[in-house]
Amino acid sequence: MNLQKEFPLRQWNPFGGKQAVHALERASLALYPGRVTALVGESGSGKSTIARLLARLYDPTGGEIRFHGKPLGKANAATLTTYRRSVQMVFQDPFASLNPVHNVRYHLSRPLRIYGFAKNAEEETEQILALLRRVSLTPAEQFIEKYPHQLSGGQRQRVAIARALAVRPEVILADEPVSMLDVSIRLDILNLLAQLKEEERIAILFITHDLASARYFADETLVLYAGQMVEGGPSEQVIQQAKHPYTQLLLSATPAPERMRLKGQRRTPLEARGEVPSLIQPPTGCRFHTRCPHAMPVCKERFPERTEFGHGHWTSCFLYGAQKHDTTPMGRSRS
Ligand code: SF4
Ligand code: MG
Repeated sequence: MNLQKEFPLRQWNPFGGKQAVHALERASLALYPGRVTALVGESGSGKSTIARLLARLYDPTGGEIRFHGKPLGKANAATLTTYRRSVQMVFQDPFASLNPVHNVRYHLSRPLRIYGFAKNAEEETEQILALLRRVSLTPAEQFIEKYPHQLSGGQRQRVAIARALAVRPEVILADEPVSMLDVSIRLDILNLLAQLKEEERIAILFITHDLASARYFADETLVLYAGQMVEGGPSEQVIQQAKHPYTQLLLSATPAPERMRLKGQRRTPLEARGEVPSLIQPPTGCRFHTRCPHAMPVCKERFPERTEFGHGHWTSCFLYGAQKHDTTPMGRSRS
């Protein structure tokens, strides 16, 4: 797939005329059973847009989503229902994703009923208890009657994961699933997701702004900048041998794992090095050229082709490969 997404600006448009937010350009990714794919980028990079497109919360402006190899655009109603069941989302905010007036039983019984997984009330209760045990909310008999306000953030996120699991999904789209949780329980939730990928062969799209957790948790990592995919490949390789200047910038803002526990450690905040550009009038060519220390004239003109480095590691940057261009840095004249 090669997804594009523009959001038309309807209500208030300071630029006049036909404008759109170019949230996503050239985003292409594939998810596989039993694998975690991380989508890394700063806020505003288009990560959540990709998740919402995949969840079909909105339609792509261009490109297509394929499910089991077949384009969804041409799918019949039955396939669309299967897709909707197979692709489940876990949201960032566990405090907003559960309805405060309903208990855990209600939240988990709904998906079971909608898709007809339980024949009677007894079966339904059994399945809910099994789901709660699956996400380590035990004793399940106690958790089933609890209300969201009686649960911690981590426990709520477990309920949200159980709700996603209820319909036996093939794919879980996890949009920053731990970023609002206490640091002390983040690893527990990531480990739970890792277990689901191993044991139930679920494909996980893990959205994060944090390269360190991508490295820890994801088999494959894709780096997104201002709606453009700039680098991808096996996580270890993308992080150890980062090629794209933006990936390198992200890494320089990430504490090294062995130094993580040191207090007061200095690192350069990303904001100190410029901001993600507006997606209403995004920079031309490689959108990173406004912040890139290596930017060349060609970078403004077009988006670079991918250069491959083996084992599926690639980047889109004019610094690599045999792309014909003028390599004089911007601001310097050729003589
Ligand atoms: Fe920098 Fe040009 Fe590479 Fe973009 S294409 S990252 S601007 S060198
Ligand atoms: Mg987001």
